[in-house]
Amino acid sequence: MRKITIIGAGQGGLQLGIGLLAKGFDVSLVSNRTAAQIAEGRVMSSQSMYDMAVGYERELDLAFWDDTCPPISGVHFRAGGSDGVTLIDWRSPMRAPGQSVDQRIKMPAWMAEFERRGGRLVIADAGIPELERYAAESDLVVVSTGKGEIGALFERDAERSQFDAPLRTISLTYVHGMKPRADFSALNISVNPGIGEYVNFPALTHTGACDIINLECIPGGPMDRWNEVDSPAAHLRLAVELIREFFPWEAERCEALRLTDDLGTLVGRITPTVRKVVGRLPSGAAVMGMADVLVLNDPITGQGSNNASKCAALYMDAIVRHGDRPFNEAWMQKSFETYWDYAKWVTRFTNTHLLPPPPQVLKVFAACGQNPALAAYVANAFDDPKSLSPWYYDADEADRFIESFAVAA
Ligand SMILES: Cc1cc2nc3c(=O)[nH]c(=O)nc-3n(C[C@H](O)[C@H](O)[C@H](O)COP(=O)(O)OP(=O)(O)OC[C@H]3O[C@@H](n4cnc5c(N)ncnc54)[C@H](O)[C@@H]3O)c2cc1C
Repeated sequence: MRKITIIGAGQGGLQLGIGLLAKGFDVSLVSNRTAAQIAEGRVMSSQSMYDMAVGYERELDLAFWDDTCPPISGVHFRAGGSDGVTLIDWRSPMRAPGQSVDQRIKMPAWMAEFERRGGRLVIADAGIPELERYAAESDLVVVSTGKGEIGALFERDAERSQFDAPLRTISLTYVHGMKPRADFSALNISVNPGIGEYVNFPALTHTGACDIINLECIPGGPMDRWNEVDSPAAHLRLAVELIREFFPWEAERCEALRLTDDLGTLVGRITPTVRKVVGRLPSGAAVMGMADVLVLNDPITGQGSNNASKCAALYMDAIVRHGDRPFNEAWMQKSFETYWDYAKWVTRFTNTHLLPPPPQVLKVFAACGQNPALAAYVANAFDDPKSLSPWYYDADEADRFIESFAVAA
C-alpha cells in the first residue's frame, strides 16, 4: 500500500487525505492543532464555496452541511461612492447555490471523519526535521499548510507573482442580526473605488446561521483603521461605522448586529504569492506543495477554499493515476501545471479586482445591469473564474462578448 503523508488539516489537506483513503492509500495527516483547538479558536476565513468546489466534497460524502448551511443563492454587485449613489448595480441568482461552513466546524468534523475512515492523524508542528522523517518514511509528502511558515520552503515564483506586498487590510466579522435581503440570499459585493470593498454573505457557525462581513481596506486609506480596535465590541463598532460611511446602501441591514462570538473577528493582510511546487529538504528529498502554499490570493474574490478543493481533486486524480511509479519532481511539476492551468485564471481574476478596474470590466458590469443573461453568466463565474477569459482581460473581446448576449437576448 502506498504511503502518503500530508501536512496541514485545512480544506486542501483534509479533502485530499480523505479522498486518498477511499482509493486505498495509507494516509497520515499532520496538524499543528487538535480538533478542539481549531473548534475553540478564532475564525480563519469566510470560506464561501461554490458548486464545483462543494461538488468535490459531495463526491467524497463530505458535504455534511448541505441541509443546515444557509445557501448563497446569487450575486449582487454594486459600485458607488460615500454619497450613496451607485453607478453600477446588477444582480443575478446563480445556477446552483454556494455555502460557507465555518472552518471551526468543518475541519474538526473532517479530522474525526478522516480517523473514522482509517487515516492516521498526528498532532505535531511539522518543521524541517519532521519533514525529513516523513519524506524518508513515505512515498510522497504533500505540504498543505496554507499561510504557515513552513510554506517558505517553496520558492516564490517571481514570474507568476504579480505583487510583492499586500494590497488590502482585511477584516472579518461574524454576526447575527443582519436584516435579510428582500429578494435572494447573496454574495453581496460593494465597491467604493479607491477606498475598499465590502463583501457579505450568509454562513453557518457554532451558533447557527449567521452573516459574514468582509471589509477589504486599501492600506493607508480611510477604511484602514483596524489598529484602533482593542476589543471584539470595538471591532464590530468599527465594521458598522465603515459600512455606514462608505457603503451606505448596505447600512440599513446592519442596524441590529451582534457578534456570533468573541473569536468571530479577524484582521490581517495577505501578500498574493505564487510558489514553485517542489520543496527541497536539506537531505535532497523533495516534498510537494498544494493549495494556498502554492497559490495564495487575497480573499477579495472569495476563491481560496474553492481553489483548495479543486487542487485536492486534481492531486487525488494525479496520485491515483500514477500507479506504482515514483512521485518524482517531474511528476510533481506536471501535476501542479495541470492545477495552475486553472488556478492562473483565479489569480488573474483576483488580482484584477485588487487594482482599479479596466474599462472593459466596467463596460461589462454596466451591461449586466441591463441584461439578465449576461448578469447570470458573470454571477456563475464565481464558481469558475476561468469562464471570464478572454473577454474580462481584452477590450475587443469584451465588446464581442456583450454583443453575443445582445443577440441572444
Ligand atoms: C479573511 C479571509 C477570508 C477568506 N474568505 C474566503 C472565501 O470567502 N472563500 C474562499 O474560497 N476562500 C476564502 N479565504 C481563503 C481560504 O480560507 C483559504 O484559501 C483556504 O483555507 C486554504 O486552504 P489550505 O488547505 O490551503 O490551507 P488552510 O485552510 O490554511 O489550512 C492549513 C492548515 O495547516 C496547519 N498548519 C500550518 N503549519 C503547519 C505545520 N508546520 N505543521 C502542521 N500543520 C500546520 C494550519 O493550522 C491549518 O490548519 C479567505 C481567507 C482569509 C484570510
